[in-house]
Amino acid sequence: KPVIAMDVFEQYESKVRSYSRSFPTVFKKAKGHTLWDVNDKEYIDFFAGAGALNYGHNNDKMKNLLIKYLEEDAITHSLDMATVARGEFLKKFDEVILKPRNLDYKVMFPGPTGTNTVESALKIARKVTGRNTVISFTNGFHGMTIGSLSVTGNASKRGGAGIPLNNSVFMPFDNYVENTSSIEYIEAFLENSSSGVDLPAAMILETVQGEGGINAASYDWLRNMEKICRKFDILLIVDDVQAGCGRTGTFFSFEPAGITPDIVCLSKSIGGYGLPMALTLIKSEYDIWAPGEHNGTFRGNNLAFIAATEALTYWETNKFSQEISKKAEMMSSFVDFIIHEYSELNATKRGRGLMQGVACEKAEISERICEEAFKRGLLMETSGPEGEVFKFLPPLTIDQAGLEKGFQIVEDSIKSVLN
Ligand code: PMP
Repeated sequence: KPVIAMDVFEQYESKVRSYSRSFPTVFKKAKGHTLWDVNDKEYIDFFAGAGALNYGHNNDKMKNLLIKYLEEDAITHSLDMATVARGEFLKKFDEVILKPRNLDYKVMFPGPTGTNTVESALKIARKVTGRNTVISFTNGFHGMTIGSLSVTGNASKRGGAGIPLNNSVFMPFDNYVENTSSIEYIEAFLENSSSGVDLPAAMILETVQGEGGINAASYDWLRNMEKICRKFDILLIVDDVQAGCGRTGTFFSFEPAGITPDIVCLSKSIGGYGLPMALTLIKSEYDIWAPGEHNGTFRGNNLAFIAATEALTYWETNKFSQEISKKAEMMSSFVDFIIHEYSELNATKRGRGLMQGVACEKAEISERICEEAFKRGLLMETSGPEGEVFKFLPPLTIDQAGLEKGFQIVEDSIKSVLN
């Protein structure tokens, strides 16, 4: 029996992080798109740390740089101090990401997590506008602190706070009512003072809702949301924590829509190696905080800066984007095939880029498909308000063979559940 087995976790750990229990084994090793457990069983990764491992596990180039950095006794923890690693990241982020896209955001390190960047964005919007409420969307997910949770469109997640959270006005996301855009509804709601809603400080949205069911907003809808924000003088916050860093094919998920958010939230894969890191990108005119108004002990994680700087080399040319698009097409064809071939699932297609899913009529079915996939050596999670979507979120660096192997396991799992 391995030294550490599942009973250790059952005995000592609280139930809070229960989602990881959907994979009831103890993992010990990972490389690229593959993980191994303590029994040396191999798993293909269609989960990628919920989008934190876009460049795969233990990416060689990043690993070697991290080892070298540690060997040199270079600084690891530095709060807000100026360090070489931090400076090099800032320079490269400007050169590779911001400048070529004509974006003039100021970059802030809001804390180590996705929740931290969202929280900072909400605070800035309040401070800039002097207003309190925020428009957020059905099935949106933005984090676990009181502010980010209050804009999360999932009642059971908000239930974690025990009491109702205020300050958020939930509006229907694109296609929340099937084949219906919510543009006119939202505009009328803001225009008509009888709606009883104070003018909000901001609107926060994901272009593809990751936790909420891989719901992709159309580019047209996104452009209209930007227009509404401009019309009513509301700050547009795009939470690109999960859909950003190439997940949908471009570095920022909103690029193809041609919109320019006032604030962008990045985390998960920005740290490259799965190391905690987050960024808040702020239009210069909203860079209004005085020193010390927002800080945090762990926002000077130099190991993350080292890996993150290396990760940006993937974006120096169009090649990586093109590779993602090719693999996304394979994924899309596979989803079409599943929906057509296994019509008993009564399923619909979800997502964009390498962030796609199959929405089953019954949540129980999608959960069982994930369980069967796990038994067969594939890590795959459910998503959506009831968990009705099984989703494909592999590292962006996965090769064609890895994708095909994963798809085969998905199909075998569907067959076994339907039999
Ligand atoms: N925003 C989005 C869109 C997310 O998907 C997540 C995490 N799933 C978060 C925010 C919160 O990030 P974290 O878990 O790092 O706090």
